[in-house]
Amino acid sequence: MTAKISRITGPLVEARDMRGAKMYDVVMVGKEKLMGEIIRIDRDRCSIQVYEDTTGLTPGEPVINTSKPLSVELGPGILTCIYDGIQRPLKDLWEQSGDFIGRGLASHALDRKKRWDFSPLAKKGDTVHGGQIIGSVAETKIIEHKILVPYGVSGKMADIKEGSYTVEDAVGFLEGGTELRLMHDWPVKKPRPYIRKLRPLEPLITGQRAVDMFFPIAKGGTAAIPGPFGAGKTILQHQLAKWSDADVIIYVGCGERGNEMTEVLDEFPGLSDPKTGNSLMERTALIANTSNMPVAAREASVYTGITLAEYYRDMGYNSALMADSTSRWAEAMREISARLEEMPGEEGYPAYLGSRLATFYERAAKVETLSKKTASASIIGAVSPPGGDLSEPVTQNTLRIARVFWSLDAKLADRRHFPSINWLRSYSLYRDDLESWTKDNISVDMAEIRDEAMNILQKESELLDIVQLVGADALPENDRALLETAKMIREDFLQQDAYHEVDTYCPPKKQHMMLKVILAHHRASIEALERGEEVEKVLDSPHMEAISKMKYASKDDFDKFAKKLTEDIKGWWG
Ligand code: ADP
Ligand code: MG
Repeated sequence: MTAKISRITGPLVEARDMRGAKMYDVVMVGKEKLMGEIIRIDRDRCSIQVYEDTTGLTPGEPVINTSKPLSVELGPGILTCIYDGIQRPLKDLWEQSGDFIGRGLASHALDRKKRWDFSPLAKKGDTVHGGQIIGSVAETKIIEHKILVPYGVSGKMADIKEGSYTVEDAVGFLEGGTELRLMHDWPVKKPRPYIRKLRPLEPLITGQRAVDMFFPIAKGGTAAIPGPFGAGKTILQHQLAKWSDADVIIYVGCGERGNEMTEVLDEFPGLSDPKTGNSLMERTALIANTSNMPVAAREASVYTGITLAEYYRDMGYNSALMADSTSRWAEAMREISARLEEMPGEEGYPAYLGSRLATFYERAAKVETLSKKTASASIIGAVSPPGGDLSEPVTQNTLRIARVFWSLDAKLADRRHFPSINWLRSYSLYRDDLESWTKDNISVDMAEIRDEAMNILQKESELLDIVQLVGADALPENDRALLETAKMIREDFLQQDAYHEVDTYCPPKKQHMMLKVILAHHRASIEALERGEEVEKVLDSPHMEAISKMKYASKDDFDKFAKKLTEDIKGWWG
């Protein structure tokens, strides 16, 4: 008996006569062969979440089980591509059906015709195993795509080719006849294996001062960006995708507006990596499951994204995944769960919300890969709590797992303080672990000056309560100087304009120097007061303007600029 649709409710389809089906099997639903996944089995009946629009499906239409889990294609051609949630290249879909993505369109994730120049690394007679690198192709100008033996395969190389091949051609042959190709498949829900996890001790440098200096994330780490609408989550994700020193970026637009993805597409090709000068698209793949696309595919987009990030990690790269927004994925879970009539948990989200989010974030790691390389995949997820209420379930469950919390603040955003990372509420649990790297690579006094600046900001928030009551003039002179410095730290250091050509990316050494200058100014002010200088004169510092311009000084000018400013500050009362 052939399996048939018995009921359709939105993205959820029920099918009968599905004997032999397993959980998470991918099925083709209806005459149009829409792609779906089995998410509940009750004897011969299955509930299927469909990754495409189900409008027009009718009961009685056939359902075909592929008996395979949802998988992605891994091989050269992923970078610079824009995929939908189930890894169909949007370009192909547009070509097939115009702006409105048609349904049941089959499209390979990797171009079957394109030829790649394969250089072998393994030799005839070598014994190879899963995850080992047997050669590479130049995927883009900056990324050498390593060709890995598929997991679970091993043996002795009987032959290996060199030259121009498509992703489906065999380039290696094992004794016994197994063929190795440039591509292989991987089920998205299964984390890709590695030898062992390593402790993340190296920062992902983002060029964003509030992040790198105060709330750093490690390579292989996790971070969450909760914030209400308009607080700057997407811009911060874009900034990290553009400027962080990961080798490969996978950017997932999940359930958010389509025009934000268009912005990325318009901008990235024209931007160049500060280190190599190459277009940022050359290291980036985009996965777009925008708000007008099917809800069930949001989950697929997140899993597809992390699988791609793990794949580049397995080649020995540091990859980073940005997901904007994980709340839209959680909302999709809630909708599907409601349609399955599961027992709702907090605010209607399913009881497994927390564990789903955890299994996702846990795939971020720094590891020793199967080919014995040190590599990492980092995850940065935006969270969109309704009304900015951080006590809601998605934020709470995310904060339990993610080790960095950049709390975006609507009040700061309203004052145009961007990025609106609240310095009193945010935290990074990597800070201590990264100390030793920072000492060796940026400056020995990094931690000291960071703590000194943070103390000033904390003191400011206490003093501001008093100022509210009695006014600033009533404060002791030292405290008035401290308020001035705190303002400098906020305005001249923490605020960073994503749209300014220089300020958009601030190298770590410049960050360090900027903060050092501000603190030197602070010490000079306090010393002057102690010597009996008049407070009004001290507060009306002649260096204020120069300090406010530091951030805009280009790389070539900055060192000279900072040196002169430091000397001026020293000789202030000279
Ligand atoms: P969200 O994704 O949280 O809804 P967006 O990231 O779209 O918010 O940001 C909203 C607006 O805030 C942006 O259009 C931009 O004008 C401003 N903005 C956010 N971050 C910055 C920044 N670092 N520099 C300048 N403007 C910013
Ligand atoms: Mg946004």
